[in-house]
Amino acid sequence: MLINRRQFLGLTGVGALVATCYPQALLGQSLPSQPRQTTSTILSGMRALPEQKNRLLGYPINLATLSDEFFAWREKLLSVGLNQFAFNNVGNPYEYSHIPFNSHQFEKALIDRFGTVYGFSQDNVWGFLTNSGTDSNMHGMYMGRTLLKSQTGVMPKVYFTREAHYSMQILRDVLNLEWVEVGTHHDGSMDVDDLERQLTANADYPALVVATIGTTFKGSIDSIDGIQSKLRGRAAYLHLDAALFGGYLPHTPYAADLLYEITDQATGGKVKRYDSIAVSCHKFFGFPSPAGLFITDQRNFEAFQVQFGQIHDPEYILQVPGTITCSRDAVKPAEFYFFSTASAFQKQTEDAKAMLDNTAYLFKEMTNHYKHLSPVRTSERSNLVYFRKPSDAVVDRYSLAVMGLEIDRRRTPYAHVVVMPHVSREVLDQFLADLASKER
Ligand SMILES: *Cc1c(COP(=O)(O)O)cnc(C)c1O
Repeated sequence: MLINRRQFLGLTGVGALVATCYPQALLGQSLPSQPRQTTSTILSGMRALPEQKNRLLGYPINLATLSDEFFAWREKLLSVGLNQFAFNNVGNPYEYSHIPFNSHQFEKALIDRFGTVYGFSQDNVWGFLTNSGTDSNMHGMYMGRTLLKSQTGVMPKVYFTREAHYSMQILRDVLNLEWVEVGTHHDGSMDVDDLERQLTANADYPALVVATIGTTFKGSIDSIDGIQSKLRGRAAYLHLDAALFGGYLPHTPYAADLLYEITDQATGGKVKRYDSIAVSCHKFFGFPSPAGLFITDQRNFEAFQVQFGQIHDPEYILQVPGTITCSRDAVKPAEFYFFSTASAFQKQTEDAKAMLDNTAYLFKEMTNHYKHLSPVRTSERSNLVYFRKPSDAVVDRYSLAVMGLEIDRRRTPYAHVVVMPHVSREVLDQFLADLASKER
């Protein structure tokens, strides 16, 4: 079908956008006059949301309202201009920028602090605050692809399982990487023996491996050390997608799980366990808008920087930024800095404990009273319980995510509850009661 420019603008809604910049480009069209609902009707429709939020059980978003201290911190930032005019964090937060309207110092400080949480040493850490977990994964995969290609001259293949987040499918397409699907164990974690078979079958290609620490639906954890044992002696890069679990595991008895390096008992030397890590800020932390941590080591970053500097001309901003996206938000790093203080880590420790206790409670109650729903919690590290899909009424009331799982070769609808910090015992009890009444 051939359409003219006016029809195209009408169809895409670009008309309104263009019109704001160039009134003469309106081509005789008028702006869409009235929104279908008035602003006040839209707002009054949203008024119930703060109350409804406490019964969202189906997605990994922490909907707890932030503390007064957070809003006081926002006020402080506002008083130095942040959110009042166009600050911009373009560039590398670890380097001097000749454009001073940024929050690079807060960004660097928070990466250094979270780096410490994940076991990076202060002289060997680099990172920045991204737009989201997906954005962090993109940077990790791009860094891995770039390093492996430069080391070997061959484009790597990317390895992850079917349980990995759907963003992997998108990113491997964006990055034009061939996917080698790795099989899983019954609990949904990566089968590292299958990884070894696949690595051998693709021995002519370097391996970009993405391990998921907390898969989206089942909450399974790929074994970092198991994967590393298969990567030894191969050209490989290991990125961790720890979007949800990466937020809280460091504040639990399982903190060592995510350490970047461990001490080798035999030699006393440090052994590196992974190359980069991605964590979402709006998931466990409850940061009020999407953002992500991307952390890697300084050595990776420097090697990447050399290649990245050849891909584009750094003259315009006088540095190689190290980030794919050019303009970057300055407000979010300054605000997320609040989550990297000692008192914030204390709060995160309390939240993590309450969350895992509540998950244990939910799992026990479901196992005792709803065995027919076959509830599963993959491990005591997980804040997820998945089970056969209950009634649509329950799915709707608690905004449960639903997915078909392969059970005895038949696709069976399942749902899950993600026990985030905003989820209280009371809501879980109500949920359990509703399972009984609405099941009949
Ligand atoms: C949520 C999630 C993502 C995507 O993160 P966003 O912050 O939503 O972009 C990626 N991987 C896993 C395992 C996730 O749970």
